[in-house]
Amino acid sequence: MQEIKPKKINHIGIAVRDLESSIQLYTNVLGLNLIGIETVESEKVRVAFIEIGEVKIELLEATSPESPIAKFIEKKGEGIHHIAFETENCEKQLKIVKEQGINLINEVPKIGAHGSLVAFLHPNSTNKVLIELCQPSSSISRKEVE
Ligand code: ZN
Repeated sequence: MQEIKPKKINHIGIAVRDLESSIQLYTNVLGLNLIGIETVESEKVRVAFIEIGEVKIELLEATSPESPIAKFIEKKGEGIHHIAFETENCEKQLKIVKEQGINLINEVPKIGAHGSLVAFLHPNSTNKVLIELCQPSSSISRKEVE
């Protein structure tokens, strides 16, 4: 069986009700660096990335009641939403994971924040932890150049 061997944890996603007040916590109390805020239309979320070493904290605020984040908060309240593992070839890694018998939420990667490719594994296969495979856009363009 093949393994996907992710390089590192790219980010930890946290579902929040109010993006601005959550940003205040991470920047003014913890003193971390806000990299940027972005709206991801496909997921109906507004996202803020906070940087800590090589890892990022991804704060997620719903922009619509139909957003997966709105539904998550409705069911479970605010809190840790997902862990994102950084991979080099998201599409191939998804196939490998599927071959290992893991259920997928996304059969093919979709465009996430910063133009990255992202796909989620189904929590019913992963101890209820929502796992994201994430391929940064920098590694996508590198592949295209090669
Ligand atoms: Zn994420």
